[in-house]
Order: sequence, then C-alpha cells, then structure tokens
Amino acid sequence: MAYASIYPYTGKTLKTYNVISDDDLTAKLNQAEKVFQEFGKESVKDRAPILANVAKTMRQDEDQLAKYITHDMGKLLTEAKAEVELSANIAQYYADNGADFLRDKPLRTMAGNSWMEYDATGIVMCVEPWNFPYYQLMRVFATNFMLGNPVMVKHASNVPQCAEAFEKVIEKAGAPKGAYTNLFVNYKQVGRIIADPRVQGVALTGSEKAGAIISAEAGKNLKKCTMELGGNDVMYIRGDVNVKKAAKLAAYARLWNAGQVCVSAKRYIVAKSIYPEFMKDLKAEFAKYKPGDPMKASTNLAPLSSKKAQLNLQKQVKNAVANGAKMVFGGGIPKGTNGFFYNPTILTNITKKNPAFYQEFFGPVAQVYVAKDDAEAIKIANDSNYGLGGAIVSKDTHKAAQVASKMNTGMIYINDICNVIYPELPFGGVKHAGFGRELGPYAVKTFANAKLVSIK
Ligand code: NDP
Repeated sequence: MAYASIYPYTGKTLKTYNVISDDDLTAKLNQAEKVFQEFGKESVKDRAPILANVAKTMRQDEDQLAKYITHDMGKLLTEAKAEVELSANIAQYYADNGADFLRDKPLRTMAGNSWMEYDATGIVMCVEPWNFPYYQLMRVFATNFMLGNPVMVKHASNVPQCAEAFEKVIEKAGAPKGAYTNLFVNYKQVGRIIADPRVQGVALTGSEKAGAIISAEAGKNLKKCTMELGGNDVMYIRGDVNVKKAAKLAAYARLWNAGQVCVSAKRYIVAKSIYPEFMKDLKAEFAKYKPGDPMKASTNLAPLSSKKAQLNLQKQVKNAVANGAKMVFGGGIPKGTNGFFYNPTILTNITKKNPAFYQEFFGPVAQVYVAKDDAEAIKIANDSNYGLGGAIVSKDTHKAAQVASKMNTGMIYINDICNVIYPELPFGGVKHAGFGRELGPYAVKTFANAKLVSIK
C-alpha cells in the first residue's frame, strides 16, 4: 500500500511515500513509550504552554499548511485555511482548559476522604480520514497530549503531505519527539500496533467498514476504543421558516467540503406546506455552486478527494435513479472538468425500497423527503442506521427543541448546522455512527485511568 498525494483538481501525482519497515515501527513505538514515561514526571500544567505553541505555530504556518490540504484532497483553499484556524482553536482550547478538566474530583462518601484522579494510560493509536486532514488529528492529539498519552497516527493514504506536516508542527512547537508520531504503515502493521501492550487506546474516524475491523482488533486485544463513523444526518425544515434563508443554509450544509463531511445535512425533510417553494429556492441555491480551481477564492465547489470517491458517488446516484429516485437537479460529472468533480445533485421520490434510502452519499448529493407534521419528520429522521448529528430549522425554537429530544442522534443543532464545529462542544454519534465523544470538556478523559483514591 503506497501513500500518494494526487491533486484532485488535475489528477496529477505530486508526491509518494513508502511504508516504513517493521524495524522503523519498533523504533517509533519505543520512542513513544519513552515519552510516555517522561510525561509522568511533568504536570498537565507543564504541557499546556507547548500545546498553546502548537496553536501559534499552526497560525504562523497557515498558508503552507492549507496548501497541503488542497493539494492532497482538493479542499477549497479558503476552507483549508478555516480548517487550520479551527485546529489551532482546538489546541488553544485544551491548552487553556485541559488542567481544569483533569483536576481531581472529590467524592461525597462515608468511606473517608475520597476523590477521582485522571491519569494517563499509555500510547493511543489513531486511524484517521482524509476529509479534514488536520482537524481530525488535532481532536485526538490535543486531548491526549494534555492527559499525557503519546499519540500515534495512521493517516489516510491520500493525505501524506498533511500527515507529515502535522507531525512537523508538533515538533516545531516544542513537543518531545514521540509525543505525536505520524506512521506511514500498512493495515497489517496497524494490527501489530494495536496488539502492542504499550498501546492502551484505539481511536478511529472513517467508514463503518474500517470501524468494524479496527474495533474488532481493539476488542480482541482488550483495548478501549472510540469510533467516529459515517452519518446520514437530516436537516428538518419546519413550515414556519423564512424559506429562502433556509434553502441557502441547507445548500451550504450539504455542499461545503464538496459534501464530504460525516455531519453534512444529507437528507432534507421539508414541511409539506412549504415544499414547492423550498424546492424552487433550493435549486436556485445549488445552481450557485460551480466547480473550479480550488486555489481560487472565487471557487465554491471543490473536487472530490479521489477518483475512487468520484466513481463511487456516480455509481450510487445511478443506482438510486434505477430504483425509482427522481433526479430533479444536477447529476453527473461537470462538463469541461478534468478533476474529480461531481455536480451538485438533488434526489427526490426515494422510497424505503430504494437502497439509497439507507445509504450515506459522501459528496454533493442531497436527498429530499416531505413530512406532513413533526411526528412524521421524526419518524423519517430516526429511520436510519446512523445517528450522528442533525439540524432543525424553525422560528419556534421551543417546539424545535421538543422535536430534537425525539431524534435519535448524538447531536442536534437548531437554526445552525452540525458542520460548524466548536471545540467546546462534544462531537459523536449513536448506532452505526459509532461510539465515544471527541471535543468538549469530557474528551480529555476518554483514554484516562479514572482512578479512585480513598483515605480512611
Ligand atoms: P476509510 O474508512 O476506508 O478510511 C479511513 C481511515 O481508515 C484511513 O486512514 C484508512 O487508510 C483506514 N483504514 C481503512 N481500512 C483499514 C483497515 N482494514 N486497517 C487499517 N486501517 C484502515 O474511508 P474512505 O476513505 O474509504 O471513505 C469512505 C467512507 O468513509 C465515506 O463514504 C464515509 O462514510 C466514511 N468517512 C467518514 C468520515 C468521517 O468523518 N466520519 C471521514 C471519511 C470517510 P487508507 O487510506 O490507507 O485506506
């Protein structure tokens, strides 16, 4: 398995990397373990300034870091810069608050003076995806770094320049070598790392398929794991909204990052009373998204991350239509483009018999459903194998909050979209969207030993 940066706008291979040898892997594991032992002598407060420096370094190097994202996986440069900024914000958030989150927690008990303390456990092995090549890494690094766990990462094989650059940023910011390790490894080596007794946690963000394999490896070796997998999130547009504004938000929620976001709004559920008007405005909004050079600030539709992704999406849409879906907008590869683009597409009339009903489309393709009332919207929303995020647009926020409580997902945003990430808010899902939460106050404790100490 090779690691290659193939520019999705042109299809040209920019750089390739070899998989490391087993001996190199052993040396890297030894180095990470050495850092783990040394971390134990430092307090969480000693690590905070280094993490703050990671944030600073990312901001200083933003232009170059963002270019690597665009070159590796095609993201618009403007969005790539926003991702660098978000990653820096996450680092700063945990630098500022990590010590507080990890403070001992006194317990009221008859047993005596008792408290919980949160100790590091060892190396955490992370398998990460290409859609947010730094943000995904920062989520696992910032939390574990504050706790004292070294992090080793097998990044996706199509974002090697980002993988290498992130490791350099961490070292440049003053973290000891081995606190964060990028690994150009194959699947077999991933298995070997998970089995290593020094590795105490496993985290994956990616597909259901990879999640099932990696969580099985973790289970086999009795390692705690978190899985952040796919989603088929809804955006429920209630009948009381400003339709134009809702259509604009819906289009942005779906087409940002060329639709390659686990928490994109992939299924719109529209109140029957506004359906015709919403569809007209939605088509007008989708028409505004045009493929182009991702390096140019004027471009608003990026190519997909790879040829494989483009072919997959094409196949899924064809299959949806063959099973009765109506393509009311878009479809196909934009004429005159050489890169891995796909046209913004809207599908309606998807019945439960259509395989598309339960499928996640990882690209700029939206499905639209109609609901006569809140109860029907909740039923459609919950009829999914996934349960990651969701959004409700409504003037009546009280009613919307009641609907949100009945939706079976890990997150719901009202009058906002799930794609807008805040470091302080937990992220994660239920059902086949995975388990565990990243970000927010609790994520620092995910791979901690929550240890009880009690004095009689
Ligand atoms: P994958 O799950 O295949 O890739 C994610 C990561 O897992 C990559 O680093 C990949 O490595 C690694 N991986 C995959 N299989 C194994 C394995 N058997 N052993 C070890 N590592 C493995 O996702 P894809 O890139 O194929 O994307 C397809 C689907 O994944 C999307 O349709 C979407 O559902 C989901 N996805 C979800 C994301 C999210 O944010 N939740 C992000 C990206 C994808 P390598 O690249 O070398 O194969």
